[in-house]
Amino acid sequence: MSEHILPPLRYAYDALEPWIDAETMRLHHDKHHQVYLDTFAKAIAGTAFEPLVVTETLRRLFEVPEAIRTVVRNHGGGFANHSLFWEVMAAPAGSRPTGALGRAISASFGTLEALTERFNAAAMGQFGSGWAWLVVDPARELAVYNLPNQDSPLSKGDTPILGLDVWEHAYYLKYQNRRAEYVKNWWNVVNWPRVAELYETAVR
Ligand code: MN
Repeated sequence: MSEHILPPLRYAYDALEPWIDAETMRLHHDKHHQVYLDTFAKAIAGTAFEPLVVTETLRRLFEVPEAIRTVVRNHGGGFANHSLFWEVMAAPAGSRPTGALGRAISASFGTLEALTERFNAAAMGQFGSGWAWLVVDPARELAVYNLPNQDSPLSKGDTPILGLDVWEHAYYLKYQNRRAEYVKNWWNVVNWPRVAELYETAVR
């Protein structure tokens, strides 16, 4: 049996209100995320990848048998991406990046506002479904880009530390077609202390 489990939300469904509504959180976590997990777990059952954590499997996507590689890419990616997504959000607390992450953002982008601008452009530049990412690359530098569908930065050799889901299911109930408003408002619920921890782990 697979050990993969749906990580519980560490906050209430309505904790991200008014920026992300409770109904979206309930559907997104309990329904969408569960399907990614179930489909991924079924695909890897009985393979050498079954015992691995999903992040390791995505790093080694090129080794995954071709017959299941696409389902692992889509649903393993969806499982891992959403697990990270819940973690990097929290009830609005007005936090900003500090410590090593704060210094790295200054060095790479100049200011948090400059990073935000570049990240938002990536989020808006994703045609159709996908994600905007802040990653640590193999040279331990920060980078921002968007990827389609559920493609994971892990499969490119990067470590994601912040991701924004721009699939319509992530915002349509509240924002309808207004992706820009969702993207802008989302920064209110970014959990910077957690992103800073993920950064420190990634560069260690
Ligand atoms: Mn999603």
